[in-house]
Amino acid sequence: MCVHAHPDDESSKGAPTVAYYAAHDVNCILVTATGGEEGDILNPAMDTPEVRADLGSVRAQELADATKIIGYHHVELLGYRDSGMPDSEANASPEAFWNIPLKQSTDDLVRLVRQYRPDVLITYPEDQSGYPHPDHLRVHDISVAAFSLAADPLYEPDLGDAHTTSKLYYSTWSKKRMVAIFDRFLELGLEPPFPKERLEREGQDDLVTTSIEVRDFLAVRREALLAHRTQIDPNSPFWFALSVEDEAAAYSTEDFCLAQVQGIPYSIPEGTIERDLFAGIEGSDSRFGVR
Ligand SMILES: [Zn+2]
Repeated sequence: MCVHAHPDDESSKGAPTVAYYAAHDVNCILVTATGGEEGDILNPAMDTPEVRADLGSVRAQELADATKIIGYHHVELLGYRDSGMPDSEANASPEAFWNIPLKQSTDDLVRLVRQYRPDVLITYPEDQSGYPHPDHLRVHDISVAAFSLAADPLYEPDLGDAHTTSKLYYSTWSKKRMVAIFDRFLELGLEPPFPKERLEREGQDDLVTTSIEVRDFLAVRREALLAHRTQIDPNSPFWFALSVEDEAAAYSTEDFCLAQVQGIPYSIPEGTIERDLFAGIEGSDSRFGVR
């Protein structure tokens, strides 16, 4: 189960990993907290008055298309309003996700965890100083809370039978990956799609415990991003200037941080990198054979 803030986050973060597991018969569930109503229209071809007037519905359709491409089996919308970028007017709306009492939005997620009973929950890291969107911060908070609370039989029994999710992961911002992509552009004689200064942003590489090889699924991220027609410019060099082959040659894994384990005796052997999100969960080794 992956928890995301807006339609398109499921495509830009972790789509190849989900596609990989979906292809190996893992039941993949997406929870998206908001409708993304405050998103800017970043594709000039889609910037029309009709689209602007009804961005919420347009983005719901985009999400449906993207999740089909990635291979999600279930998509659940918490139905809150996009809180907007930090310090924007939308922050004040009482319906904005980050203004909803924490218990209410956490309970929404507890209910879904108890309903779908996942082995693994993936959310955003604690430190999001590189992109402190209020909705992303809130997604982290409700995910961490729901991971524990859903397992507690004394907590709100009306939300369903308690379920212990074995592992909680954070997605990470990999500086190593950004450097590798930047260098690949230079090697190919192409202009990198972001300034070199961007590489000065502190990475989360030292948090990485787990790397999933997604070489064969990188194309899924591109297709899923393109389904977000209002949010992604198909001419964006950032997403599309490198071929999939060149991207794979530069960096072919998605990296995660194992944040918490509960209900199973498990830890990653020191000095090793985990290669399977389901490692240590009974019954999963033979299913994947990727460790
Ligand atoms: Zn977002």
